[in-house]
Amino acid sequence: MIKTIDDFAVEGLRVLVRADLNVPLRDGCVADDGRIRASLPTLTALTTRGARVIVCAHLGRPGGQPDPKYSLAPVTARLGELLGRAVELATDTTGPAARAAVAALAPGDLVMLENLRFNAAETSKDDEQRGAFAEQLADLADLYVADGFGAVHRKHASVYEVALRLPHAAGYLVQAEVDALSRLTANIRRPYVVALGGAKVADKFDAFGSLLAAADRILVGGAMAFPFLVARGDKVGTSLLEASQVGAAAELLRRAAPGQIQLPSDIVVAAEPGDSGAVVAADAIPADQMGLDIGPQTAVRFAAALFPAQTVFWNGPMGMFELAPYAGGTLAVAQALTDGEAFTVVGGGDTGAAIRALGLAEDTFGYVSTGGGASLEFIQGKTLPGLAALEAS
Ligand code: ADP
Ligand code: MG
Repeated sequence: MIKTIDDFAVEGLRVLVRADLNVPLRDGCVADDGRIRASLPTLTALTTRGARVIVCAHLGRPGGQPDPKYSLAPVTARLGELLGRAVELATDTTGPAARAAVAALAPGDLVMLENLRFNAAETSKDDEQRGAFAEQLADLADLYVADGFGAVHRKHASVYEVALRLPHAAGYLVQAEVDALSRLTANIRRPYVVALGGAKVADKFDAFGSLLAAADRILVGGAMAFPFLVARGDKVGTSLLEASQVGAAAELLRRAAPGQIQLPSDIVVAAEPGDSGAVVAADAIPADQMGLDIGPQTAVRFAAALFPAQTVFWNGPMGMFELAPYAGGTLAVAQALTDGEAFTVVGGGDTGAAIRALGLAEDTFGYVSTGGGASLEFIQGKTLPGLAALEAS
C-alpha cells in the first residue's frame, strides 16, 4: 500500500516535494503551465496544514551544471502567481542557499530549490553518486512526497534514492495518475480505442506492442504514421521519418488483427512547415513535400472510430498542431473525445498542451495525464522506480 500525504501529520515538518514542473518556456516565460497547476493541490494541502514545504524539480536538460537558461526562476514566478503568494527560489539545490532558505521556513511557508539537474549526480548512472546527492536532499527534510508523476519512470536521485532515505508518501497528483491509468491496465471497458501520434516515435514504439495486445483499435497519426506507411510500401517524401522503426512497424502490422491498426488515408502536406497545406492520398506524398497532419477524410474516420469507444487512451498530436494549417486532425480527435462518453485518458506533455492551446476544457476529458513517458510505461505494466520506492517501507 502506498501511503499518501493524508496519512501523515505534517504540521511543522519539513516536507520535500518532488514535483514535475518541466514546462515549456517561451521568451523567458512559462508557455504552458499545466504541470504547475497540477502540482497545486498537494502544495496547497501541505502549506494549509502547516508543513514547511520544500519544492524540488527539474527543467530541461542543462547537462549537470548550473545554466541560467534552465533556471526555475520563471516557473517559481508562475507558481507564486497561481498560489497568490511570493515564492522564494534558492539559488542552489542542496548548497548553502538551499540550507539557509530551508532553515528560515516557518510552518506554512514554501521554498523552491534550483533545478535538480544543475547537479550531475541527479541523473548519474552511478548508484553511489545518486545516493550521495539523495543524502544531501534528504538532510533538508523530514518527509518526502512524490508528486512529480512525469518523472516517476526515471531512476534519478530525487525520484528514487531520496524516497528510500526518508518517510515517504504519494502526493495527490501521483495518486490521481495511478488511479486513472489503472483503468487502462485492468477491467478495461470495451471497446478500447487508442490514438497514437506525436513526434517522439522511437520512444513510443515499445508501448505500441503492449497496446496492440490490450486495445480493440489503434488509430495512428502524427509522425508515428510514417514508419507504418513506409512498411506498407509507400513513400513519405521529406516527412519526419524514424527510419529505424520501419521494421518494427512492419512486424506490428503483421501481428495486428485486420483493421486493428488504422493508418491515415489522406495527409496534409507542405514543402515546409508554415506553408499552407495541400491534401494528398497517404500513398501519394510528393517527394519534395512533408506530411504535417492527417487529412480531413482520416479525421472523420478516426472520429467515427472513437465515437463508440468506452475507453480511450490518446497520446501524441495528430499533426504539427502548433501551426494552424496542421491543427485540424488534432482538433478533430480532441473534439470526438469531448463529444463521446468514453472514459478518456490523454497522455503526453504536448498532447495536453495541444488540448489547452486549442481552447478545449481539460475537464471535459476523463483524465489529462501530466506524464508522457511515465504514463506509457505505466500502462505497459513496467515497474516505475519512483512508485516502487513508495511501496518500500
Ligand atoms: P507528446 O508530448 O504528447 O507525447 P510528442 O512529444 O511525441 O508528443 O510529439 C509532439 C510533437 O509532435 C508536436 O510538437 C507536433 O508538432 C509534432 N508532430 C505531430 N505530427 C507531426 C508531423 N507529421 N511531422 C512533424 N511533427 C509532428
Ligand atoms: Mg512531447
